[in-house]
Amino acid sequence: MTEHTKTDGLPGIEPGAIPQVLERARPRNERMASDKIECNACPILCQIAPGRVGACDRYANADGALVRVDPALFLRRSDHAAAAAPVAFLPRAADAASAPAATRAAADEFFVTGVGSSTTYPDYKPAPFIVASKAGGVDMITVVTEGIFSYCSFKVKIDTDRFLGPEQANVRCKGEVVGHVTTAEYGSQMLSLGGVHHLTGGSKKEGRVTCEMMETLGNKAAVELTIDGGSQVIVRSGCAPIVNGVEEARMRVGCGSATVGIFAKQFYGLADEVVVVDDHITGVLTQHQAGRCLDMRLSGVKIRGRRSTPGRYFQVANPGTGWGGTDIVDPLSILEGWDPATAWPGLRLLMVSTTGEHAEWYVLDDALAPQRAPLPAAVARIVERIGENCEPSLCSVLFVGGAGGSLRAGVTENPVLLTRAIKQALVNVTCGGAPAYVWPGGGITIMVDVARMPDRSFGTVPTPALVAPIEFTLRADDYRALGGHMEYVRTIDDALAHGPWHHDGAPTARRSETIAAANPWPIGRAPLLG
Ligand code: SF4
Repeated sequence: MTEHTKTDGLPGIEPGAIPQVLERARPRNERMASDKIECNACPILCQIAPGRVGACDRYANADGALVRVDPALFLRRSDHAAAAAPVAFLPRAADAASAPAATRAAADEFFVTGVGSSTTYPDYKPAPFIVASKAGGVDMITVVTEGIFSYCSFKVKIDTDRFLGPEQANVRCKGEVVGHVTTAEYGSQMLSLGGVHHLTGGSKKEGRVTCEMMETLGNKAAVELTIDGGSQVIVRSGCAPIVNGVEEARMRVGCGSATVGIFAKQFYGLADEVVVVDDHITGVLTQHQAGRCLDMRLSGVKIRGRRSTPGRYFQVANPGTGWGGTDIVDPLSILEGWDPATAWPGLRLLMVSTTGEHAEWYVLDDALAPQRAPLPAAVARIVERIGENCEPSLCSVLFVGGAGGSLRAGVTENPVLLTRAIKQALVNVTCGGAPAYVWPGGGITIMVDVARMPDRSFGTVPTPALVAPIEFTLRADDYRALGGHMEYVRTIDDALAHGPWHHDGAPTARRSETIAAANPWPIGRAPLLG
């Protein structure tokens, strides 16, 4: 039976959309108003009055029915490539009722994502969608749910050499500590944000702000962060970071030593010495192996900092937002002078940063003092090439979540078998259709690029915890073997027509969003069928 609900006007529900009906009004006890409905999709157990939404804005009481406000998201396989693309499907009641089966794509072209699918809480319930499909003639099952993640965080890679803050420094959002600066990577600063310690281990406000920040970041919006002893930075997945109000343009081509090595031959004959200023390794061409291989004459320049190996210097200055991620404003400040027995008047010196954004040209006078001079055109072209070889600076946001807990009960009666099957590569784990990396070792710790997930994939509950979609796809035989809920397996047509198994009859609405990056089709990925 198709049931329509009066949902127009409910906050968060698009006019005409048909949300999933999960339960009818039923007072929990005599003190609860009879028209209220209790949501048990998380431990908060909201009692929702008619026309109102629960504390997380994800469930509502629509005319006495508990509905999931956001419709479930189905992906349709692209006609042109094995890429997941969203498709408009049954957006309105009238369409849903009248859509002839023939106008629909073949069932194996659809994939049910966990976005808007509703959840298994309180855990013993089978996942809301357990869907059969075929891939290469093999029967497959996809188990779909919205996970509630207490153990979760975001690893953020910020492509910049500018100093964001010391390693281990606290990262704050709205004054609350929400993470820390972690180990820098090549050309990028790294932040670890969110996590159980900040969600539940601190004050209530810290947990709330952390949860909001994580939802915002996961949903590809911008968050403003300040780092103790460092910078203010605005981070958004897929966008350039804004550090202290300045949008970053380039990541460095390499460290100072790498830059010397890459461009040594091009500088040969045009400059007598090149110093590439870098927070990590400052390179000095004539001392560097690259200059020695080119038989370059030593310039006699003396550099501050700690000499690591020939032509490579650590700690020439403090970290900062100046030249090459240092606090240098005047590049000559890192020179300690010249060896008079080696240097010569007229020596041509280029000082340049690892992004090519900063460059100065000097010529030594008779007293061996560098005098600034216009950059020769041929040298300027190489400096431009350094810039050309720098990749655009971006923020990458990866969600890390622990799925090895109770949500496994929605997949199987014997959860450890799911964990083992994942470790044996029998299960393809995706989040909103995006491929998830599963960490080795115990548990099911997944990592996924939020840029590859559908927009608005993340939600929250006030426990506080993050809500994120997760799908497990495996062969039907394997699913049976690991104790899967076979009695709840349905066809994709049935899932499209009726929504989650625990609803009472309304067709499932879906929403149409653009996926930023093409993902492999989640069903039948190697090594599942290899
Ligand atoms: S917070 Fe949301 S999921 Fe939790 S009980 Fe309330 S409405 Fe349901």
